This record gives sequence, structure tokens and C-alpha cells, in this order.
Amino acid sequence: MNVETTRIEGIPIPVSRIGLGTWAIGGWMWGGTDDNASVATIRSALDQGINLIDTAPVYGFGHSEEVVGKALTGMRERAVIATKVALEWGDGGVRRNSTPARIRQEIEDSLRRLRTDYIDLYQVHWPDALVPFAETAAELEKLRAEGKILAIGVSNYSPQQMNAFSAAAKLAAVQPPYNLFERAIEADVLPYAREHGLAVLAYGALCRGLLSGRISESTTFDGDDLRNLDPKFQQPRFAQYLAAVDALAVLARERHGKSVLALAIRWILDQGPTIALWGARRPDQLRGINDAFGWMLSAKDKADIDALLAQHVTDPVGPDFMAPSLR
Ligand code: NAP
Repeated sequence: MNVETTRIEGIPIPVSRIGLGTWAIGGWMWGGTDDNASVATIRSALDQGINLIDTAPVYGFGHSEEVVGKALTGMRERAVIATKVALEWGDGGVRRNSTPARIRQEIEDSLRRLRTDYIDLYQVHWPDALVPFAETAAELEKLRAEGKILAIGVSNYSPQQMNAFSAAAKLAAVQPPYNLFERAIEADVLPYAREHGLAVLAYGALCRGLLSGRISESTTFDGDDLRNLDPKFQQPRFAQYLAAVDALAVLARERHGKSVLALAIRWILDQGPTIALWGARRPDQLRGINDAFGWMLSAKDKADIDALLAQHVTDPVGPDFMAPSLR
């Protein structure tokens, strides 16, 4: 195995540069899920040297964390658990809540569900404009002093919000959306992270499966699957994105003998202090992890990829549809 690793300040062990994303393992917004397959997926990731497991309380309203806790029983110390805080749910909705009181409640719930007494990386899930960022940050620093968390991160924050947050906490990581099709952070968050020594946990690495190369115009999604609402998966845009995937697949195969999935992950790893969060819920989906490691895209590859994207995706759209409500 040739898993590439990095360091996240505060976490004592090297962290794999691919992290397993467990949103779908919660079932909610992914048309349901199979817990036995989920447990097997998490253990398969660990066996392949992928030690970073990203989850959140809101994924299945506790379910994803519970499944992660179950899967890691007896092997907790091998894993780097990244979970999140500061979304609340009820009445059919999800809202932001970064108050110290909410954080105090959530940390205990997460530790219980994860069957552990510490969380490696604790991330504020979405910025909450109703609570001063320094107040949220100070509460997380207290959790760190108490040994309940080892490192602090934020997700979906702008550089301005990270600056305000950093007045009261040592930030180690940021988790933004980032993949070949969703690149807004190149203008702000990515340079900020480079400058401030933050790890960038790129979420939606496969653009919700689009970049797996396994989706076609006839693919359908069950139940509450978010791709039924995702604007990239609606025609006529869907055809544009699929055409781009086909073109990327040819480039990956002809120049590197790789799949488009491996190219999508490699591209993220070649952008800086990045970790690619790859969502999977069945062990077979993790086949090929090693194809993403041990090679690099050249400057010409990257320029040609940009040209292919511009040629095929003439009406791009971002991931904004995923943002939860304000309070
Ligand atoms: P993703 O990684 O872009 O795509 C995941 C989906 O792609 C899987 O559920 C699976 O869909 C499909 N897939 C994966 N491997 C495949 C393979 N080998 N062949 C075919 N299809 C494959 O999307 P994501 O799960 O949304 O993002 C990754 C992680 O980032 C999440 O799990 C979560 O941990 C994190 N995240 C964080 C935020 C945030 O606000 N901080 C937001 C979104 C995501 P099917 O199982 O349906 O085939």
C-alpha cells in the first residue's frame, strides 16, 4: 500500500490524504442505506490505510456517527475521527446553531454515539451569523483543554469568518466543497489555508458520484436522494457534466492509464494542502483507492483539464443547494 499521508496540527498520528466520507452511511438524503455494508466499508477503508473517517451528527440524525462508532469498536486508536457540530434538527428542518450551549450538548451526544472519549478533529459544520465566531471558537478551545477534542476545524467558512474565529481558537483545518466541478475556493479559501497552514478537507470529492464515471443519463436515484434536487443532475446541465466526465475519462486513460475516479481524486491531491473526502457506503466503491496515490498530474494535464471543462460545461452551477437554513 502506498497511501499518502499528511499531518493535522494536534493529531498525533499521520492522516491519510483520502478520508472516508460517511454522509450516505447515515441514509438521510441518500435514499436509505444498509448498516452491515456501511460497517464493512469503514473497516475496509481502515484495512487499506485510510484512517480518516469524516462524519457529522446531522448525517441520519445521529445514525452515521452510531455506525462509525460500531465499526470502530476495538480499533478506535487506528482511526482519525472527524465529526462536526452546530447544526440542529427537528420539525423536518435543519438549522445552524453555534451557541456554546448547543456545542456542550452535542459533544456529549457525539462521544456517546462514536463510543469514544475523544474526537480527533471537531469541525463547526456551517457558519452561524447569529453567534459571534469568537464565542463559538472559545467554547471549542475549552473542549480541547478538557481533552475531549484534539484539533479544531470549520466547514463552509469564508476567510473573513475564519479570521474572526481564529481570534479565540487555534484552527487546524477547513472543510469546503472542492472537486473538479466545484472550484470556488481557489479564489479565497485555498490560498488562505496555504498561508495559515490549514489542512483542507475537500468534500464532495466525486461531486456526489458524478466523477465516479459510473453515472449515465439513465441513472435514477431512490427516495430522498439529494441528487433528485441537485441542479447538476437536472437536464440540460446533466448532459453537459456527463460529457465532461467522458472527456476526462479519455484523458485519464490515454495519458495515465487511470480511471476518471482516480483522476478526480488525484487532481484534488495535486492542488495543495488537501485531503479528498470520498463518500462511500459499500466496500466495492473503495476499490481502486491506491490508483489515486503515487503519481501526479502535470501542468499541461491541468491546463488541458480546464480546457475540457470549459468546452463541455457551458452552464456551470455550484453546490449552494446544500446549504442548511439559518435560524
Ligand atoms: P462524493 O464523495 O462526491 O460522492 C459520494 C457518492 O459517490 C457515493 O455515495 C456513491 O454514490 C458514489 N461513489 C463513490 N464511490 C464510487 C465508486 N467507486 N463507483 C461508483 N460510485 C461511487 O459525495 P459526498 O459523500 O457528499 O462527499 C464526501 C463526504 O464529504 C461526505 O460523505 C461528508 O463526509 C463530507 N461532506 C461534508 C459537507 C459539509 O458541509 N461539511 C457537505 C457534503 C459532504 P451511490 O452510493 O449512490 O452510488
